[in-house]
Amino acid sequence: MQPLTAEEIRRSFVNSSKSLVKAMTLPRGFAELPWDSLDYLGWRDPKAPNRGYLVVRRDGGVTGIALNTQATGKPRRGTGLCDLCYTAHQVTDVALFAARRAGAAGREGNTVGLYICADLACSLYVRGLRDVDVPQGETASPEIRAERLHSRLEGFVNRVLA
Ligand SMILES: [Zn+2]
Repeated sequence: MQPLTAEEIRRSFVNSSKSLVKAMTLPRGFAELPWDSLDYLGWRDPKAPNRGYLVVRRDGGVTGIALNTQATGKPRRGTGLCDLCYTAHQVTDVALFAARRAGAAGREGNTVGLYICADLACSLYVRGLRDVDVPQGETASPEIRAERLHSRLEGFVNRVLA
């Protein structure tokens, strides 16, 4: 993706309050991020570990979505699949995130839930740039996987905006 500026990111959020955006911590090493290998910019908030952010360039601009996850505290075992990139992980490396829906629906408490790579690094997994420690069922090429990631991401963003 084309690099984003801090200003673009802060302006992009469709489902969070101004105060949350103000309190948000941007990813570290922002200027040196591997933008060419990113389909979306995703990160966990180092100061608020239950919060994550996902920012994507789409036709007509930049869309940012704030996510929340809850640590269950229960030990979990087995493997889980990311709903966006279909990477298989140890179940502790995939997290159930909830995105408040934009507008009135969100104010009424409606959310969209999705299992996503806990570090929000789908783009790196589909390109083989970050290792996973469980066998993968997916055999498609990185290009195909990135394309599929794009369309699932678009579907997710549309559900949040709908
Ligand atoms: Zn993923």
